Amino acid sequence: MRVPVYVLNLRGQPLMPTTPCKARKLVKSNQAQVIRRLPFTIQLGYATGEAKPKIKLGIDAGYSVIGFSATTEKQEVIAGEVELRQDVSRNLTQRRQYRRTRRNRLWYRKPRFNNRVATQKPGWLPPSIQHKLDTPKRVITEFQNLLPLTSIHIEVAAFEAHQLKKPEISGVEYHQGELQGYEIREYLLEKWQRKCAYCGKTGIPLEIEPIVPKSRGGSNRVAHLTLACRRCNRKKGDQTATEFGFPEIAKKAAASLKAAPFMNLVRTHLVEELGCGKTYGYITKHDRIKLGLAKSHVNDAYVIAGGTTQPRCRSFLVKQVRRNNRSIQTNRKGFKPSIRRQRYPLHPQDLVRYEGELYVVKGVFNYGKWVRLGEFTSGEKTQPLNQSIKNVNLVKYGKGLHFSYLTESTD
Ligand SMILES: [Zn+2]
Repeated sequence: MRVPVYVLNLRGQPLMPTTPCKARKLVKSNQAQVIRRLPFTIQLGYATGEAKPKIKLGIDAGYSVIGFSATTEKQEVIAGEVELRQDVSRNLTQRRQYRRTRRNRLWYRKPRFNNRVATQKPGWLPPSIQHKLDTPKRVITEFQNLLPLTSIHIEVAAFEAHQLKKPEISGVEYHQGELQGYEIREYLLEKWQRKCAYCGKTGIPLEIEPIVPKSRGGSNRVAHLTLACRRCNRKKGDQTATEFGFPEIAKKAAASLKAAPFMNLVRTHLVEELGCGKTYGYITKHDRIKLGLAKSHVNDAYVIAGGTTQPRCRSFLVKQVRRNNRSIQTNRKGFKPSIRRQRYPLHPQDLVRYEGELYVVKGVFNYGKWVRLGEFTSGEKTQPLNQSIKNVNLVKYGKGLHFSYLTESTD
């Protein structure tokens, strides 16, 4: 897999990425210097002109993973996944509990009311959701500093809710694999919550299924369609849903899907704020299947970015590293809670050098005097290596967005 080297000009603005070979020659001849290891970035020491090819960034913002890919007409220049934090809500609950117990220890506390943040700040979102909105913005800024992006495209929803006017009465040739068929399919998936209407199984291939079979005069209208797994579909055969023992399904199918899911609102908000292009899941899916790509966030982002047959590059895995732990915690012996006021010299995810080799700090112990080291690039479990911090030199603090390579198996 190709690994592009990102290039900045004299003033620190991004230029087109180059090859590792060319970058090595530039660095060896002192015409450029390395300013970042992951993603590998060099800064030129001389003034250059700027070639301006079109670079499109595609963002597939999922609930727990964000896929990203930037492509030109000739190649993919960056790709990968960002893992979103799943611990926001849990950490806040924990903080709340500690705070509650602490305050309950007081005899008297002034009455306070009308002090809920949600009522005081319009447009306030719960922190776990705010995080899902902030992260794509942060990631986009990160890439704008790395690549001369010309446009950004975000997938906002599975289907166009307002373009599908009166979706329940639109009839479709849903078997033919055309674009409209894909849209109806996404609509039905949303409506039936991605599970078989008869047995309720999820995570299996679902087939579009007329509630009254066509052979018995059933129609193709969306209000008469549901989703079923292959087994239930076979078992049902040419019976109607009522004959099959599910009289409530016809009623449920006639009602239309109303509220757009919350994440769609968040993404639409994002598009408006950044002023970037938007696309829909059914288009992505249609194009991805046409190109014969497997289902993954990176591949979706690649398709959103206008990727077709360009050579791909190695995918990054981006994690967000929390450097501070501000919640009050009971100490190890279970005595009174205390905030860790003093920071240790080294913390997990910091990049360090030990005996000339690069390592990542995996853990800190003995009051910060010793660290456990792990391998730099792969992040795989290797033989644990414990070292005193006296023998280890800091290279870079591991805060903020933390890049590593995505292992191929999860791709
Ligand atoms: Zn089923």
